[in-house]
Amino acid sequence: MSGPRTGSPNPDLVVEHIVPLPHFTGTEPCHNRPDPFFHDTYRQDQPEVRAALWECRHCPLAPVCLVWALANPILAREGIWGATTPRQRKALRTKVIARVGAANVDDTYRAAYATAVTKLHPQGQ
Ligand code: SF4
Repeated sequence: MSGPRTGSPNPDLVVEHIVPLPHFTGTEPCHNRPDPFFHDTYRQDQPEVRAALWECRHCPLAPVCLVWALANPILAREGIWGATTPRQRKALRTKVIARVGAANVDDTYRAAYATAVTKLHPQGQ
């Protein structure tokens, strides 16, 4: 995979975003080099997986990116996003549903996304 991350490994996939794809500044570790963030398997004993997770953990966009990936499971089915593997996101989604109920999941993600964006850009900066 080459070029900037678009939020969809398949550009032909048209899916409504529950929350919008984060606004990439071009300085994110995955920008223009998405390949290290996509693997056949996501075992954490794989050095390349650990390296990608480490880069995400140090990315300022990680909290927003994680909420986007949780809220958009079809778009973020593959890949490391927001310092999580697909399996970790599946487990987190299950926990969120258990906590807030399936009917409230989308609103929960929208609220979490707004909070994460506000922390990223305090006072609209
Ligand atoms: S958190 Fe990871 S996947 Fe998300 S923008 Fe940053 S480097 Fe890319």
